[in-house]
Amino acid sequence: MALTNEYLKGVYETVALRNAGEKEFLQAVYEVLESLQPIAEKRQDFIDAGVFERIVEPERFIMFRVSWVDDNGKVQVNRGYRVQFNSAIGPYKGGIRLHPSVNASVIKFLGFEQTFKNSLTGLPMGGGKGGSDFDPKGKSDGEIMRFCQSFMTELAKHIGADTDVPAGDIGVGAREIGFMFGQYKRLRNEFTGVLTGKSLFSGGSLARKEATGFGLCYFTNEMLKAAGDSFEGKKVVISGSGNVAIYANQKATELGAKVIAMSDSSGYVVDENGINLDVMKQIKEVERARISEYAKRVEGATFHEGCKGIWTVPCDIALPCATQNELDLDGAKALVANGVKYVAEGANMPSTPEAVACFLENNIPFGPAKAANAGGVATSGLEMTQNSMRLSWSFEEVDARLGDIMKNIYKSAYEASVACGCAGNLVVGANVAGFLKVAEAMKWQGVAY
Ligand code: NDP
Repeated sequence: MALTNEYLKGVYETVALRNAGEKEFLQAVYEVLESLQPIAEKRQDFIDAGVFERIVEPERFIMFRVSWVDDNGKVQVNRGYRVQFNSAIGPYKGGIRLHPSVNASVIKFLGFEQTFKNSLTGLPMGGGKGGSDFDPKGKSDGEIMRFCQSFMTELAKHIGADTDVPAGDIGVGAREIGFMFGQYKRLRNEFTGVLTGKSLFSGGSLARKEATGFGLCYFTNEMLKAAGDSFEGKKVVISGSGNVAIYANQKATELGAKVIAMSDSSGYVVDENGINLDVMKQIKEVERARISEYAKRVEGATFHEGCKGIWTVPCDIALPCATQNELDLDGAKALVANGVKYVAEGANMPSTPEAVACFLENNIPFGPAKAANAGGVATSGLEMTQNSMRLSWSFEEVDARLGDIMKNIYKSAYEASVACGCAGNLVVGANVAGFLKVAEAMKWQGVAY
């Protein structure tokens, strides 16, 4: 599909001028506008209300200095960001990413995508995202704490349980959320659900850690069921070995599949016997070591340098769960040539537009990130609900709600794809279904004069 609608082309050109050089953000906006063409043709009321122009412009974008002192007493300076993209359907909600690749473009692309993803969950959450170019790798606990406290000292001015509720993302797990939560509480003298992904001692939700990976498998299961198929006996390749990848592995295995490859930014491991998740968790969650360790500890497993080669490992189901644009056209062609049957995205925008086109042209059922990985934020939404009610649900209760939410997301995306005349194209379906709710709310709330 190309962007041919003259009106939306104009909207895109303004975004491209205003955000020149921000390739990730422009890529995300282009893909969504492409999908929205059938809506622009039918809904003059959205055009009259300026919804398309407004939805691609963040409501607020905050950029700030984060200074902190390292273990040698040296002052370090990083850059912090928070984008408050859209609050039409609820408080801004979206994770914080700590990675050297973080810049304004990455944060805006993530915040834009988050708006549609959060809408798809059916919960009242707007879109936001934040982060810093701080690299947590190799830092001591003390350095991580001092960075997180400094980051929160500024961020606290802009967030709140009813305003903006950040969570984890790449480089931010329970440890970092704890340091940030502690600092927010000190500054505000308030114990509120201002962050999600908290520890269970401080109002966290059971099943939040597992939610994105589990949710990805629940969504993929709906794709499989629609094709009269199941996870049973399937070979699965999962990129990454972080929070999303590890719990996607766990659920896929529970559903009867065998996960034969995983990666990190240094390379990938193949284990035809099925990745031993206890060993992987020990290496990645406890020791925070490199994935090559796995091949040293597990007989028959092999390590391969470089991460892109993982897509040459023959499999039935591919679940990219590492980072944006990690699966390019070469990777997609290799997967298709080796007979991949289903692809679903655990990471945000891991497939390049060319890779997505390759899957769709070859009729491979494809689950786009904003639908397939929405289980994390959905469970964050459930954490907010528990915090507001001042009670905690059991693991089973949260997991059951997550399962229902993922089924509903699949159903909404599929039904929207049918309504747009491209049945089964979940890229279009997810964009349209996510957009409609936000667009109606924006129209209803009027424009500030
Ligand atoms: P983590 O930091 O826990 O893990 C990221 C993993 O990806 C690490 O194993 C990292 O390796 C690896 N990685 C990074 N770059 C590459 C690369 N180029 N090739 C291969 N592996 C790479 O992050 P999460 O698991 O939380 O997040 C992963 C993705 O999922 C991100 O896109 C995130 O936005 C998305 N997501 C996360 C959610 C969550 O709840 N956590 C919710 C929804 C989406 P290394 O250790 O070497 O850097």
